[in-house]
Amino acid sequence: MIEPNVMNLLHFIEQFSDEVSCKSHMKKTRSKEGIICKKCQSKKHYWLKSKWMWQCSDCGFRTTLRSGIMMENSNLPIRTWSLAMAFMTYSKKGVFAAELQRQFNHSRYTTLWSLMHRIRSAMGKRDDLYDLEDMIEFDEAYFAVATKASDKQNLKKGRGSQKQSNVVVMAESVPLEDLTTGKQSKQCRYFKMNVLDTHKKEEVNALIGDNFEDTSIVFSDKSTSYVDIGNYVKVHITEKSNKQTTITTLKWAHIALSNAKRTLLSIYHKIKGKYLQLYLDEFCYKLNRRYFGNRLFDRLTIADNNIGI
Ligand SMILES: [Zn+2]
Repeated sequence: MIEPNVMNLLHFIEQFSDEVSCKSHMKKTRSKEGIICKKCQSKKHYWLKSKWMWQCSDCGFRTTLRSGIMMENSNLPIRTWSLAMAFMTYSKKGVFAAELQRQFNHSRYTTLWSLMHRIRSAMGKRDDLYDLEDMIEFDEAYFAVATKASDKQNLKKGRGSQKQSNVVVMAESVPLEDLTTGKQSKQCRYFKMNVLDTHKKEEVNALIGDNFEDTSIVFSDKSTSYVDIGNYVKVHITEKSNKQTTITTLKWAHIALSNAKRTLLSIYHKIKGKYLQLYLDEFCYKLNRRYFGNRLFDRLTIADNNIGI
């Protein structure tokens, strides 16, 4: 049996066989989304066929195919970007740069490595635009990350090559009640994951302030870092952590954390602490759009990115 992911890639390669087909698709996707003039904010444009650009009908300012999206300042062909995005979105778990390099027959590992991080960064930035609301599960777990290069000596000697990074998960969920049986369950909507640097309550408070609507209801374990959460949201409900809370109150938080750990560990083996957030951004972006199917690729193509890696 052919897996659906493989089908997607075959379809992709058929549809995007060269740079021109990639550019045409980019034009179609961006036109559908709508072009906004950087100079006068007008939405009225016409297409300059020979130049591969839009021209503003009001002020004449021109917008290129790459302008305002994550590949804006890159010299790499649009096809390379598109292929990388296709690999990253079609594969359920993810791919690593060396695999892309092999598949693309590309000479430089670092080029693909930076390109993938740029894509992850755009994914994170896109999800940063949304706040979580209603009922939110809040929990933490430790992720093993590789130590710094300065600790190479230790790696060689087989000494401790890993340390733990603290990751917070925030899972927006809605309660469901089966009216015939009275059984309670929860459906989960969106996730966010953030690496915590200090685990102090100030950092937790900032995270809540930045990511939650103030009308939310937050569920968490009891922790001294969580004491102020109630000041930022409507209600904060704490329960002492036990086996029961992991399958009820914090069900989706636990599922997401263990899936993230399993996925990241099986694909990347050793992630450096400073890049962990980018891998989490990719994981959450795909998880939040798990029902998008093939639309995921088009959405990602036009995602903006002003932040370097
Ligand atoms: Zn204009």
